[in-house]
Amino acid sequence: MPDLPITGGCMCERVRFRVTEPMLGAAYCHCKRCQRRTGTAFSASALTVPGSFEVTEGEELLGVHKPQDPPGWHKYFCSRCGSQIFTQSHEDPKLVSVRMGALDEDPGVRPGLHQFVAYKASWDELPDDGLPRFDERMPAARYQGEQE
Ligand SMILES: [Zn+2]
Ligand SMILES: [Zn+2]
Repeated sequence: MPDLPITGGCMCERVRFRVTEPMLGAAYCHCKRCQRRTGTAFSASALTVPGSFEVTEGEELLGVHKPQDPPGWHKYFCSRCGSQIFTQSHEDPKLVSVRMGALDEDPGVRPGLHQFVAYKASWDELPDDGLPRFDERMPAARYQGEQE
């Protein structure tokens, strides 16, 4: 069990958040949107219990990208330093996943699967970690996490 609240923030430390309940799960995502927004091969995000996530500092500095065609989760970032911080469902705003790189300490959860591996970066190799891999989005029953 992690110490609560779980805290995190952006690189310039103007935006801070906290998570008041243990997180539900986490996943690696290899989709092209994650490659673009992170500048690297894949992302790791962790799903929070509805209502347990709160921005505690710098909310006015948040920028957001709202993908269209197809619509996707809204991607929030610090407009001052560009750090990706969290993502919120466009269909159900109670669903929030935090970017694991934004966390201060060990959140207690580990990514449990890889999704969108059909779109993985051509220059990257999937690790031999034994985790389930899905060509497309993870099945909703597995983990209600980020849906790019
Ligand atoms: Zn920042
Ligand atoms: Zn993704």
